[in-house]
Amino acid sequence: MGWMHTARFLTTAAQLHHLPDITVPEIAFVGRSNAGKSTCINTLTQQKQLAFASKKPGRTQHINLFALGKQGVTDAVLADLPGYGYAAVSRSDKQRWQQVMVNYLRSRQGLTAIVLLCDPRLGLTELDEALLEAVRPRVEAGLKFLVLLTKADKLTRAEQAKVLSITRLQAGGGEVKMFSALKKQGVDEVAQLLWQWSHPVEGSTAAAAAGDATQGGDTEADAEADDADRDAPSSSN
Ligand code: GDP
Repeated sequence: MGWMHTARFLTTAAQLHHLPDITVPEIAFVGRSNAGKSTCINTLTQQKQLAFASKKPGRTQHINLFALGKQGVTDAVLADLPGYGYAAVSRSDKQRWQQVMVNYLRSRQGLTAIVLLCDPRLGLTELDEALLEAVRPRVEAGLKFLVLLTKADKLTRAEQAKVLSITRLQAGGGEVKMFSALKKQGVDEVAQLLWQWSHPVEGSTAAAAAGDATQGGDTEADAEADDADRDAPSSSN
């Protein structure tokens, strides 16, 4: 998926009002600390260090934006939000950060999609559920939502199928997919979905070409969709 490989650092901000106004679709990546978010972003963008920049001292509590699209023609932005739930963070810092995140998710103009990263061995935790609840009104109003179950390589096929169906129930109609950075599982499929979400007109053609493989299905169907995605029209740029 050449489009995602164009990602480059745009800016970083500790507070919402310091974020630039963006006129292109913005896709937010959120999740508990250690869920695999940085690894996922680095795998999708095929850049080893991109999201790890967000873990540098001084940036861990920042929203980091990455531009997508050919140089000079940014057509979407990835927003990497700090991981939450990290035990070593003080209670007041946690609360402050959760408030910034909720405000961001509720009010950020141009926010088109949210990708919630989740370690399937933990499942959706209380904090993830609180986040889902906070964005529900926007999801009902059309905001796209994907729960990405990471580190799929640590689960058997049967375990993957089970956690997929449980999480689909919990996600209340949002997309849920398995992902493994290690095995490159779900990489093309997620890239394809994010392309479709941020390019709705062209995306609808691509969805038809892929046989709408991004909807529902079990892990086997997902794996097949991965293969289909490799040949889909929007996967090269
Ligand atoms: P973050 O805190 O959400 O950004 O999580 P990281 O990307 O730093 O990943 C947390 C840990 O999970 C690291 O030790 C990663 O190597 C590991 N990890 C991330 N993705 C995968 C994966 O697909 N498979 C496996 N086996 N481990 C992973």
